[in-house]
Amino acid sequence: MILASTNPHKLAEVRAILNLPIELAPADLPEVVEDATSFTGNALIKARAACQATGEIALADDSGLCVDVLGGAPGIFSARWAGVHGDDEGNLRLLLTQLADMKPENRGASFRCVAVACFPDGSEIVAEGRLPGSLATAPRGEGGFGYDPIFVPAGSKLTIAEMSAEHKNEISHRGAAFRELAKRLRRRKH
Ligand code: IMP
Repeated sequence: MILASTNPHKLAEVRAILNLPIELAPADLPEVVEDATSFTGNALIKARAACQATGEIALADDSGLCVDVLGGAPGIFSARWAGVHGDDEGNLRLLLTQLADMKPENRGASFRCVAVACFPDGSEIVAEGRLPGSLATAPRGEGGFGYDPIFVPAGSKLTIAEMSAEHKNEISHRGAAFRELAKRLRRRKH
């Protein structure tokens, strides 16, 4: 099985979450345009392309941060919210500026992840995970990636970047989505 992703943080998280043999897809895969309008659509674009190019079972995810007061944005635009794909620092700063006047009770947000598996026979599995929480007013912590330094899960006082990687994987949207996917992959094998 291969993971169609260019994000090394994700491979590390997915490897730790799934107890299944998984490799990063070869670097020479044709580039895809993630032009769908949903997490599910974009995850399927990545996995279908990788499955077609390699003939292997391909997994992919698409994920993002959905802020209540922004009507669910950045959502599918999370990786390029400040304009440049993968500019984690810029994305986080822009979001903090946009929410600068928002009171704590209006800073609700959730992380969402859709994990998919595409099989060479054309069948597909789709699984979703969600982590509700709120946004801090300044970044805290060194762990994780992306918006982790400003995301405080519901019921916690720590940002995700202040938690261990193990704790993040236990509660995260990606953990939930890939554990559900793994359950259904194992069921399919029997
Ligand atoms: P993609 O799923 O690779 O298209 O990118 C999703 C983007 O959403 C990342 O670049 C981050 O900005 C954000 N994101 C998704 N999952 C996480 C997470 O677990 N922590 C922090 N940011 C995340």
